[in-house]
Amino acid sequence: FLQIQDLVKSYDDTPVLRSVSLDVDQHEVVCLIGASGSGKSTLLRCINSLEEIDGGEVWLDDQLVSGEGTDVDQLRRDVGIVFQSFNLFPHMTVQQNITLAPRKIRGLADRVANDRAAELLQRVGLADKASTYPDQLSGGQQQRVAIVRALAMDPRVLLLDEITSALDPELVAEVLDIVRGLAHDGLTMLLATHEMSFAREVASTVCFLHAGTILEQGPPEQMFGDPQEERTKAFLHSVT
Ligand code: ATP
Ligand code: MG
Repeated sequence: FLQIQDLVKSYDDTPVLRSVSLDVDQHEVVCLIGASGSGKSTLLRCINSLEEIDGGEVWLDDQLVSGEGTDVDQLRRDVGIVFQSFNLFPHMTVQQNITLAPRKIRGLADRVANDRAAELLQRVGLADKASTYPDQLSGGQQQRVAIVRALAMDPRVLLLDEITSALDPELVAEVLDIVRGLAHDGLTMLLATHEMSFAREVASTVCFLHAGTILEQGPPEQMFGDPQEERTKAFLHSVT
């Protein structure tokens, strides 16, 4: 469904992704794990053209969505992304944050966009926060709004980059609950995470990135229970 083929990316002359290939099937949840600097964020950012790639291709549902001629607006409608730092617009209410892109980019009427926002907020337990400004919310609540903002575009794939890393420990669970629900509903997701127990629980496939390559991948039982590569073992040992 989402296919990444031989993706290459350097910053200046430093290679950061060295021929990464990865298939994410529809309704699958793929977790990227790996040390800091291994290229997880860069890979996610390359997929929806937040970074220019130096080589390789990205395909979504048999359409090429990388390189020249890519309709980046369409791509970002199809592939949503949520970041570690929630990046909500501080001067807009929760509802305005959520409905901005659906109104401007999808051309939804205000009422339709607002109804959809209300429905999504309800789903993440924030029905009463539509008129609130981001700085009046906890980090966990802000991140739930950021997820709703991405969902409001009805993406076909959702990319999540360490979305619990900036949260106080007691707020992590409420955000992971949302992701768990989305996985259950069959949303196709590719997520970078350092929450190994969560990866083990939700992932259909776990990919271990090391120095810009996928060194090993497999189902979570195998990756966590019986990793083959020494580097995977060392990494898992260091984080668990
Ligand atoms: P973390 O777990 O810390 O989030 P990561 O796996 O997401 O790490 P990336 O952020 O993708 O790693 O970074 C991969 C490499 O690319 C790092 O060596 C980083 O220093 C480098 N890098 C990332 N962004 C840039 C940039 N804008 N300019 C130059 N180098 C960059
Ligand atoms: Mg990162």
